[in-house]
Amino acid sequence: MHIAGNTRLLTPQQRELIDLAATLGRERFAPRAARHDREASFPFENYADLRAAGLLAICVPRSHGGLGADFTTYVMVAAELGRHCGATALSFNMHVSSCLWSGAIADALEMTPAQRADHAHNRALHYANIVERGQVYSQPFSEGGAAAAGKAPFATLARPATVGGVGGYLVSGQKIFASLAGAADVYGVLCTLDRPGATQRDSLYLAVPARAEGVQVVGDWDPLGMRGTVSRTLLLHEVFVPHAARLMPEGLYWQAAARFPHMFATLSPTYMGIAQAAYDFTVAYLRAEVPGTPPVLRRQYPTKQIAVAEMRIKLEQTRALFLQNARDATLDPDNDTCMRLLAAHYTVMENANDIARLAIRTCGGQAMLKSLPLERLYRDSRCGSLMLPWTAELCLDRLGRECLYEAGERDEAIE
Ligand SMILES: Cc1cc2nc3c(=O)[nH]c(=O)nc-3n(C[C@H](O)[C@H](O)[C@H](O)COP(=O)(O)OP(=O)(O)OC[C@H]3O[C@@H](n4cnc5c(N)ncnc54)[C@H](O)[C@@H]3O)c2cc1C
Repeated sequence: MHIAGNTRLLTPQQRELIDLAATLGRERFAPRAARHDREASFPFENYADLRAAGLLAICVPRSHGGLGADFTTYVMVAAELGRHCGATALSFNMHVSSCLWSGAIADALEMTPAQRADHAHNRALHYANIVERGQVYSQPFSEGGAAAAGKAPFATLARPATVGGVGGYLVSGQKIFASLAGAADVYGVLCTLDRPGATQRDSLYLAVPARAEGVQVVGDWDPLGMRGTVSRTLLLHEVFVPHAARLMPEGLYWQAAARFPHMFATLSPTYMGIAQAAYDFTVAYLRAEVPGTPPVLRRQYPTKQIAVAEMRIKLEQTRALFLQNARDATLDPDNDTCMRLLAAHYTVMENANDIARLAIRTCGGQAMLKSLPLERLYRDSRCGSLMLPWTAELCLDRLGRECLYEAGERDEAIE
């Protein structure tokens, strides 16, 4: 079954890149997934494969030596990767996001000619790191406060400074759940420009080299799921980066986040892939086609057939919204598009876990042994709806409010 449903709607590039992800995922990532899950270790070999296949540069523009994939293409490829190793797909999203923010999204934003020229210079350095040096980026923005939910400025601060005659920033702060901690070459840190009265509009997106002085990875990593993301804590103490480290000009991240909200849904393709994997496993298991399990057919029981039908319906509902969302992505979406986006994101995150739950109930005890992938899919799928800025709860909050209130509308006080 193809992750993108009807393949006739795919462009030649989409077809080719999804096939590439399927081959890598099936042949390389899936066989390694159990070990990285058991060890909570980072899948460096998978990144070597992504690098060799050119996929690290999937969203680097062709003019800079990348594959030039757009948002829609990328999320379909990401879902296919998630089908084979959720942790790899999720951390890969942090890397690719650095290219999407600074690429097509930045191109569509309003900038002064000086900002545009400066950005063109800076992102060329960033793309060369990826294309020529095979470097991996991450995207630590969570801090444990209200900033990752978009409700307050980032507490991590970038203070303008000149060091050794070079202008730039001294960055200090702490990032929690920093996927790829200790594995990325560059941390794409979201922080606040340190100036009096700074607000969220002063958010700054800086490329901090992992080996820069003052960067430290600390803490344990022994979570329920997504263990191969190695999302440990990142400490930044007076880390100097030059102006060229700006992945977007000062003040532009806020504009980008407000005008291209679909970027926050790039966490969900991974979970679309996990939902598909839980379904794939169930069908293979009931058909007695899973290697290492007893060769006993279980598909003849009507209850199994009904359960699989229920899973397939939920899977197709999830895929339909996922694809609609992938193709809807645009700058300045109207309110209805934003509501569809939140509904799609919520659906993917919640349904992935529900499909994994049904898979375990349907396949039964032997199928949830650690020697098989199903229990990992179940644990990994649980993590999706916890991820900020759009946890399941926050999607419900915002949907409920915005479905009932027009912009600026208030209730009269009830006596
Ligand atoms: C596997 C994994 C990988 C991750 N990787 C990254 C990464 O690479 N980079 C990164 O930046 N983050 C990453 N995260 C972090 C993630 O996005 C969240 O920031 C993190 O899970 C928040 O945990 P918390 O307990 O601190 O949430 P809290 O902020 O304590 O929130 C707990 C819950 O309260 C609710 N809540 C929070 N704020 C509000 C509000 N203002 N109004 C109403 N309800 C609210 C939400 O529903 C939320 O689920 C990762 C998380 C996981 C699980």
